[in-house]
Amino acid sequence: MRYLVLSDVHANIDAFDAVLADAARHGDLRVLMLGDLVGYGAAPNAVIERFLALPLAAAVRGNHDRAACGLDDAESFNDVARASAAVTAGLLTAAHRDYLKSLPAGPLAISPLTEICHGAPFDEDAYVFDEMDAVYALRASSRPLCLFGHTHAPFAARLREDELEFVDASPGVVITVSPDARLVVNVGSVGQPRDGDPRAGYGVLDEEAGTMTCYRVEYPVERAQARIREAGLPEALAMRLALGR
Ligand code: ZN
Repeated sequence: MRYLVLSDVHANIDAFDAVLADAARHGDLRVLMLGDLVGYGAAPNAVIERFLALPLAAAVRGNHDRAACGLDDAESFNDVARASAAVTAGLLTAAHRDYLKSLPAGPLAISPLTEICHGAPFDEDAYVFDEMDAVYALRASSRPLCLFGHTHAPFAARLREDELEFVDASPGVVITVSPDARLVVNVGSVGQPRDGDPRAGYGVLDEEAGTMTCYRVEYPVERAQARIREAGLPEALAMRLALGR
């Protein structure tokens, strides 16, 4: 099975459309969605509509999905995130709110090789940034490959016989997935990248070939920024898209 891996779309329809257009060159893919379809961006309904039309393999919820549909009170959010959760909740249609409510918590095993989660396999809200986090995540994962999101930055690490190895997750670099090692991969964010590269991120997993590859694609950032300003969302959310921070 071959998969299109999407994470942290964050209601950015311009980035999402660019990713879907670019991903078409990889042929038929089924979708794995790692959470945070909405929040921060201005087009939650358009993103969910587009998403529901895709051939879905599996999806998990993110913390912003929970806040937008009322499963979480956003108490732990900073001011900007809380403001965006309130605007998003106001924009969502009842059907889309119900869809977000129906999303399962990760981790979710999708095959003998792969599981997906939003933050980390031991806690859907935990962030995997560094060596220590990666070791915890690798030990907690139940499959050779654990795909995660939440930090909005591409990242990959492998554990083989207690040896941790950081793996290059740069665009186009083919990462080997094998049943005899443990691997965690973050493909980055579709709608709000934070690694200094403003281009939208996604990944392609080919389970038969045992490969995982991250990609980046340019999209009309100004259009997404204009939507954010029109929706009355905090200006910081528009500015950061241009910086990829
Ligand atoms: Zn996110």
